[in-house]
Amino acid sequence: MKLTERLSQTKETLFSIEILPPLKGKSINSIFNAIDPIMEFNPAFVDVTYHREEYVYKKRDGGYLEKVSIRKRPGTVGICAAIINKYKVDAVPHIICGGFTREETENALIDLHFLGIDNVLAIRGDSIKTEPQFVPEPNGHAYALDLVKQISDMNQGNYMDEDMKDVEPTNFCVGVAGYPEKHFEAPNMFSDMKYLKNKIEAGASYIVTQMFFDNKKYFEFVDLCRKNDINVPIVPGLKLMSTKSQLITLPKIFHMDLPQALVEAVEKCKDDKQVKEAGIEWCIQQSKELVKAKVPCLHFYTMGSSESTKKVASKVF
Ligand SMILES: Cc1cc2nc3c(=O)[nH]c(=O)nc-3n(C[C@H](O)[C@H](O)[C@H](O)COP(=O)(O)OP(=O)(O)OC[C@H]3O[C@@H](n4cnc5c(N)ncnc54)[C@H](O)[C@@H]3O)c2cc1C
Repeated sequence: MKLTERLSQTKETLFSIEILPPLKGKSINSIFNAIDPIMEFNPAFVDVTYHREEYVYKKRDGGYLEKVSIRKRPGTVGICAAIINKYKVDAVPHIICGGFTREETENALIDLHFLGIDNVLAIRGDSIKTEPQFVPEPNGHAYALDLVKQISDMNQGNYMDEDMKDVEPTNFCVGVAGYPEKHFEAPNMFSDMKYLKNKIEAGASYIVTQMFFDNKKYFEFVDLCRKNDINVPIVPGLKLMSTKSQLITLPKIFHMDLPQALVEAVEKCKDDKQVKEAGIEWCIQQSKELVKAKVPCLHFYTMGSSESTKKVASKVF
């Protein structure tokens, strides 16, 4: 089912999660182990992230270094198919610009269409770790906007080869990323908002936000979107803090602020077990306020472990 239909069917706040594929060579059971405990909360959908290749240097005989491309977490599409098959719940693959030519994107979307996947989250993807900025493939997309346009074209039956006849259009519901605290490359919020609006005008029909720990940031973002005539559902993304080191790594990687009250609560903790408890408590309060404000869905970034998410869900739903 299209997520927008699912979201409009109820006035209640729905529950959803994001998982990431296991490291290459690991079993899919780690995915099932993460999903099994939260199935009792009836997730509306499960997002599966996409991870592009990384470059590492391997020492070879004779001492020279060889640059090798490795994809550490392949399997996004297979995992989506396995989730749909096992749980009969909508799985949403993330599809990225990085590493794909337009033709490879088209073929990937055809696979998803044949698998009966109705929803995709269309994003640009981050730059490769060894590259200072995002570099599109030759004949690939530079921005998520171009990816959204390609999917919308396919939804109209327009494939890359204009000579194709009697084509079946795809029917994807397209989500895009939004940033309550601004995307880190955007010069300002105004500019970021302009490009977000372009993605909606190009055919995206819902937004999932980057994680935030201060609900005020989300509420202000939603207000700003509405003022800019962006009227699609905006699903808040939530992350549970679980280690002290995340005081440094989360702002560094995800470019958001941590509220001082949360920082102080975490600093007081003696070990990461206590941090986990503090993270759960913070997230329960955040979630309750968001539910009260009638947000469409609470979307939890589980990062492969749903134990804490379950504790939050059991207090909120
Ligand atoms: C919910 C969510 C899920 C994610 N999942 C993944 C994942 O599975 N895999 C992964 O690799 N990464 C993922 N990311 C990270 C994401 O790929 C990065 O944040 C990336 O840097 C930007 O992606 P985007 O789709 O927002 O890009 P875009 O919408 O293309 O925006 C990127 C930047 O360019 C600017 N911009 C946009 N269009 C234009 C234009 N036409 N001209 C000039 N500037 C423009 C924007 O303001 C922004 O600063 C996710 C992020 C979120 C919030």
